[in-house]
Amino acid sequence: EYKLLYKTGIVVIGAGQAGLSSAYHLKKLGLVQGRGFVVLDQSAQPGGAWQYRWPSLTLSTVNRIHDLPGLAFSDTVNDNSPQVQANIAVPHYFEVYERTFDITVYRPVGVKVVCERDGRFRVETDRGFFSAQGIINATGTWEAPYIPEYPGADLFKGRQLHTKDYQTADAFAGKHVVIVGGGISAVQLLDEISQVTTTTWVTRRPPLFREGSFSEEEGRAAVAAVEERVRKGLPPASVVSVTGLPVTPAIEAMKARGVLERHEMFSEITEHGIRWADGREMNADVILWCTGFRSSLDHLMPLMLREENGGIVMTGRLATMVAKEPRIHLVGYGPSASTIGANRAGRAAATELTEYLGLRD
Ligand code: FAD
Repeated sequence: EYKLLYKTGIVVIGAGQAGLSSAYHLKKLGLVQGRGFVVLDQSAQPGGAWQYRWPSLTLSTVNRIHDLPGLAFSDTVNDNSPQVQANIAVPHYFEVYERTFDITVYRPVGVKVVCERDGRFRVETDRGFFSAQGIINATGTWEAPYIPEYPGADLFKGRQLHTKDYQTADAFAGKHVVIVGGGISAVQLLDEISQVTTTTWVTRRPPLFREGSFSEEEGRAAVAAVEERVRKGLPPASVVSVTGLPVTPAIEAMKARGVLERHEMFSEITEHGIRWADGREMNADVILWCTGFRSSLDHLMPLMLREENGGIVMTGRLATMVAKEPRIHLVGYGPSASTIGANRAGRAAATELTEYLGLRD
């Protein structure tokens, strides 16, 4: 029997950084769990997408994990060595966080579709449905890996995979690996894989290396640029993509090893490798697409939030409110797709949505 599980004020979909921050602030604003709000997550364990990151992503190689409100990440890290795996330390942090602030996350509960029914939202899941007055959507990007289309992709006899599928460089020993992409993940995986086998690095645009550290002002400007895009309803660009690649000691070492040689993007995939527009060919056993992610919002399809170009017009204090449908907030989307952004967005969404719906006492 497909039944109503809860009639509630707000359903928070996703319990990563963005969802947990939202839940913290909803509680702080006086909403009671169950009647006031519920949090759902399709993963079986706490940790958001961090639980799925590759094992060699450690606390020394992540950009920076910003604290959730009220509890410092560092207070929950038992082992202070930089080699601690992010896919262990962050899920542990989230688990302690949920316990500390008594946030109940219903899991694994996957949201399949959200539609409107009698002036409320019907949130259909693999367990039953929820009825809500408003939605805070915090489903991240991990479920929506992006691979651009190139002719011949289906002819390729080797292995194609996305950043999301990467586990360890050893799996590629003895194979020639083409790594596609100009972001931080591409460079990190190129670093690892080039230590065990031969690699070719291709990017669409010449990568932008930057000397010195990133100032706070530059960080704000990068976020503001993405915010401007989503306020206009353009598809968001990733915040990291506008900040460039900081020249770290790891990058210096890659330069010295001669593996940081960038080739322009190929135009075609062949049975045994790749071909450039000028006719040059190269054999490859593996094509690793480090080409990023899109927002995973398919379950919101029936609400028709998207514009023709695929973007969504956003409004509100931090641009978390959907202009067409103010009862829906997207957190961890566009300018808030970082741990610090997700944090702030959770607060803005909780504040604005409870006010809009009149849910506060
Ligand atoms: P997520 O952590 O992805 O959480 C989304 C949650 O929603 C998941 O738990 C998932 O199970 C759940 N979910 C998804 N779909 C559904 C559904 N249909 N029904 C129910 N539940 C659902 N940012 C930084 O600030 N610093 C970094 O160092 C950094 N490193 C990164 C490294 C990599 C490799 C990648 C890919 C990203 C990195 N980021 C980093 C960006 C990072 O993704 C965000 O900062 C932030 O962690 C995203 O949080 P979130 O809550 O929006 O999403």
